[in-house]
Amino acid sequence: MIPATNIVKDLVELDENGYIKVNQHMETSVPGIFAAGDCRSGQTGQVVVAAGEGCIAAMSAEKYIQNTE
Ligand SMILES: Cc1cc2nc3c(=O)[nH]c(=O)nc-3n(C[C@H](O)[C@H](O)[C@H](O)COP(=O)(O)OP(=O)(O)OC[C@H]3O[C@@H](n4cnc5c(N)ncnc54)[C@H](O)[C@@H]3O)c2cc1C
Repeated sequence: MIPATNIVKDLVELDENGYIKVNQHMETSVPGIFAAGDCRSGQTGQVVVAAGEGCIAAMSAEKYIQNTE
């Protein structure tokens, strides 16, 4: 119930409960850094959702890499 987000707390924007803020593309406040699953703000705590968000984050990361090459 406590997000393990200490590693990024000084890097990306967190909500008041320590979860990572993302948009619908799983983009954090820092370009090139993505978050998905139970660590993200507004998470549902369901494994199928975490897996789907992982897919979205991976696709967003691929797009980001292609656009910055
Ligand atoms: C007791 C319990 C019962 C549950 N029952 C259900 C259920 O019946 N149905 C359902 O859909 N969901 C259930 N869930 C929720 C489900 O387990 C989660 O939604 C899902 O595991 C989230 O996946 P995740 O990859 O986002 O996070 P996690 O599965 O928590 O994976 C995160 C991983 O990151 C690792 N990690 C953390 N910090 C670091 C670091 N600094 N460096 C490297 N690695 C790190 C952790 O060790 C962990 O392996 C349950 C959860 C719990 C706790």
